[in-house]
Amino acid sequence: MILAVPASPDLFAARLYMKSPEANDRIAWNQGPPADCSDSEESGKPPWRLVLMGPPGAGKGTQAELLHQYLGACHLSTGDLLRSAASHPNCVQSPAMKAAQDLMSHGGLVPDSIVWDMVRERSACLRCPGGFLLDGFPRTVGQAEALTALMREEKLPLTAVVNYELPLPEIISRLSSRRTCRDCQSVQHFSAENEICNHCGGSLYQRDDDHPEAIAVRLKVYQRETAPLIEYYERFGLLVPVDATSSAAHVCARTVAALQHRLQTIA
Ligand code: AMP
Repeated sequence: MILAVPASPDLFAARLYMKSPEANDRIAWNQGPPADCSDSEESGKPPWRLVLMGPPGAGKGTQAELLHQYLGACHLSTGDLLRSAASHPNCVQSPAMKAAQDLMSHGGLVPDSIVWDMVRERSACLRCPGGFLLDGFPRTVGQAEALTALMREEKLPLTAVVNYELPLPEIISRLSSRRTCRDCQSVQHFSAENEICNHCGGSLYQRDDDHPEAIAVRLKVYQRETAPLIEYYERFGLLVPVDATSSAAHVCARTVAALQHRLQTIA
């Protein structure tokens, strides 16, 4: 697997934005079985199977979108799944799903059993020849163990686990100014000059879990439940740390360079 990494991050950013999005979309992931992904054909290239980790606000979703354009692997987000299940008009709002929404809006984690059922139901996406970029999953050691067991059973080893690192003051500042588009769900920085979505012109809103009280809960939950995964994946030799400060394109360039370095080291 060879990755072309341009000499400068600015050149990388320019190239990235010139690339047209890959055909691979998230129909099967977002709708669940029996939806088919529109791009399930063999591309001939070895697939990227990546887990993207990091504290809330580190930019995992944005990086997953950029890496999807660069690597072609599908962006699979459990947060998106849970939000779309909550807002879907045909979704039967079971007591378990209502409890999950309440936990989400206050910054807590949805129980492993609910999240794992949703992921397992979509395990075809993990077998996709195009690979995957898991964003927001796993978030607990229990989820990571379940994923490891499934990947072993399916003989589909992870390529790497990218861990985005960001200092606490920047995490808080990013989360508090973060807004989400009601129409296309893209995440943007809010300012007086930027009140509408710069992708589709839709209106921006602040997610319940981006309010200050929920941010404090999310950071505590991250430390207690998710940070131990750093050691978990380090033990498997899969961890690739990436500095998540500076612009999204620069962080993406760093990610690609770090992945290339990892591939050279294990080759
Ligand atoms: P995200 O969009 O990844 O920031 O996720 C938003 C919220 O969805 C989280 O704060 C959790 O409440 C819930 N969530 C997403 N993924 C998971 C997961 N893997 N395990 C438990 N809860 C999750």
